[in-house]
Amino acid sequence: MNNQKAVVVFSGGQDSTTCLFWALREFEHVEAVTFQYGQRHLEELHVAKNICDQLKVTHHELDMNLLNQLAPNALTRKDIAITEGDDGLPSTFVPGRNLLFLSFAAILAKQINAKHVVTGVCETDFSGYPDCRDIFTKSLNVTLNLAMDDQFVIHTPLMWLDKAGVWELSDQLGAFSFVKNNTLTCYNGLKGSGCGECPACQLRQTGLEKYEANRKKVRT
Ligand SMILES: [Zn+2]
Repeated sequence: MNNQKAVVVFSGGQDSTTCLFWALREFEHVEAVTFQYGQRHLEELHVAKNICDQLKVTHHELDMNLLNQLAPNALTRKDIAITEGDDGLPSTFVPGRNLLFLSFAAILAKQINAKHVVTGVCETDFSGYPDCRDIFTKSLNVTLNLAMDDQFVIHTPLMWLDKAGVWELSDQLGAFSFVKNNTLTCYNGLKGSGCGECPACQLRQTGLEKYEANRKKVRT
């Protein structure tokens, strides 16, 4: 897959950062796109930009604030319980959000002449959205190719991994410490290991502990 160009859907969280490292291994030229949609914490955008700067990856920010018009509850009501969706976004967000994000990422890919779109969606850990399922991304892939008369390939390297598996992948990519220290998953906007209490931190921490326990077993 060398000698080709890829766009990574990137939030600055553990999953999409692991995808970014994966893409940097697989493709010669990688750019990242972050969707700005009124995140609870602007910090997310800074973190995403900062990671791209560190990795010397061109970073695109696309304004998706129109999503707020479709799902005001998720962003304005703090009493709604939040559980983690793909890419660390609140699960209370707009149904079909991933459909939109991937479509916009593909349009961007078309413009910069990239054939590959990489996303950290995953069926395993999340009860979540129908548009994170493998069958959906394959279906959208066909649709996007028809829509733009092109031969895009959507890659989902995390599709069948649990959180421990994502840590393992980052380790294989030589990015374990980087992901551990530089990414933001926490709903309270704290980088690295985060607040330790929100659902996103707990999921991340449980996965990390499981992976570290497995790693010890393998080594001893
Ligand atoms: Zn947290």
